[in-house]
Amino acid sequence: MDMNRDSISDIIHLCIAINERASEIYIMLSRADDNKDLKRFWTEMANEEKIHEAFWNNVKKIAEEYKLPHVFDDPLATRNDLEQILEKVEILLKRWEKSQSMKNALILAYRLEYYMLHPAFEILYHTLKPLSGETDPEDTYDIHINRFIEMFVRYGSVTPELELLGETLQSLWQRNKILTKLVMIDSLTGLLNRRGFLILAKELFYLAQRNKENMGLLMIDIDKFKKVNDAHGHPKGDEVLKGVAESLKRSVRKSDIIGRFGGEEFIILLPAIQSTALKRIADKIRQGVENRKPAGIPVTISVGVTQGVIHADPDAELFSWIAKADECLYLAKTNGRNCVVSAP
Ligand code: GH3
Ligand code: MG
Ligand code: MG
Repeated sequence: MDMNRDSISDIIHLCIAINERASEIYIMLSRADDNKDLKRFWTEMANEEKIHEAFWNNVKKIAEEYKLPHVFDDPLATRNDLEQILEKVEILLKRWEKSQSMKNALILAYRLEYYMLHPAFEILYHTLKPLSGETDPEDTYDIHINRFIEMFVRYGSVTPELELLGETLQSLWQRNKILTKLVMIDSLTGLLNRRGFLILAKELFYLAQRNKENMGLLMIDIDKFKKVNDAHGHPKGDEVLKGVAESLKRSVRKSDIIGRFGGEEFIILLPAIQSTALKRIADKIRQGVENRKPAGIPVTISVGVTQGVIHADPDAELFSWIAKADECLYLAKTNGRNCVVSAP
């Protein structure tokens, strides 16, 4: 475990190093290129790497504080991959320095972008996004990759194989995104799935323990949802699920994480929340769903609430908190539904 934790810190540092190197290389390319069009392109690429760097710097401190022990299945292998990437980048750079043709520059850039499609980047983006505040590296990366491909297509007449490379890169990026989403995101609602939620929640439990901050956990279940399906059909039921998910998202902060825990069951973790505020927020969430009438169908939810400060083993506490919130949810159901019950 400890070895894994060290390699996760290494992984983050390697991702930062690769990103920084990419940005330096794009600046070098922009200085070396005589073609005005390409010069501007390289500068834009460098600037976009800078945006990624800003994201990394934002999250570096948090990431180092609690080391993300659960995110990678095989941290050692990932670390080795990234170390090799950094070495290869240096070799390619030397090759370009020897022969500074447009083709070599574009191939160097291609390899850089290709390497940065390593799943480690995407996994860390997803994991750290809720902790990073406003920056969303995925959106900027989409723009970045598309700009890159456009350039490859434009210069495809000069070097036809580059156009093909551009296309493969784009499809790799799309596939990478889909795969990471499959692992962590629920496709119907766009919320975290159970696995994704548990991965992030564990990290936040470790962080809360370290910071001795009060945290809240809500278990939410749609009331009499079977009747919605029976009366309106399954597809309408799906619409209602999407609407409820949207309503939950609107009622919480960006730093809170929401998962679809099962069929019509949701879970929300609210880090750094004042204990006196939580009951009010839970009720605001319940009210939000009641007011929304998704797909024109009135629905309500029941909510079980637990909160506290993590003292002992964060892994064990996560599961005991979920169990406790679930008991409260059960009480909310027996109390007549459309209500909030908090653990004592
Ligand atoms: P309660 O108030 O006690 O929670 O009643 P309920 O009817 O909501 O609870 P129950 O667990 O009996 O039924 C849940 C229903 O949710 C049954 C299932 O068909 C439906 N459901 C689960 N997942 C989905 C889904 O992805 N789409 C749709 N449309 N329905 C789903
Ligand atoms: Mg249920
Ligand atoms: Mg239900």
